Amino acid sequence: MEIDKDSTAWRAICSMNGEVSLKEIVDVLEGLGVPPRHTQDYIEAIKREGIGKPSEDDDGDIIYNMYGEFDPDVVSREGDYSCNKCGQSLKNGYFLRFDKSEDGPYGPECVRKIGIARL
Ligand SMILES: [Zn+2]
Repeated sequence: MEIDKDSTAWRAICSMNGEVSLKEIVDVLEGLGVPPRHTQDYIEAIKREGIGKPSEDDDGDIIYNMYGEFDPDVVSREGDYSCNKCGQSLKNGYFLRFDKSEDGPYGPECVRKIGIARL
C-alpha cells in the first residue's frame, strides 16, 4: 500500500521524537484509524524514509529512535512542576499551546504522547 503523506497518521509518525516502542507506534496508528493490516506498511515506510531507526531494548522489544520534529506549539519553562499525566516531578515543564490557553505542565515523554493524540 502507498502511504498517504498528507494523512494525519503519517504526520503523527513524522512528529515523533526520541525512543518510541513499536507497540506505541502501532497504537497511535490504530488510534488514528489505520487498519491493523496496514500498520506494517507504515513501519516499513519509517525505515525506508529514514524517519526512525529500529533497535532492541534490554527485554528484546523493538524500539524506534525517531528523528521527527517536536510539535512547534510546545513550549517549555523551568520551574518546580509535576507532570499532569503521570505525576513525575519536573525541573522543566512542557506545555501545549493553543490560541488562548495552555495545557500542562507535562514531562517530555507525556507531552509528546498527548500532542500526538491531539493532532
Ligand atoms: Zn508524565
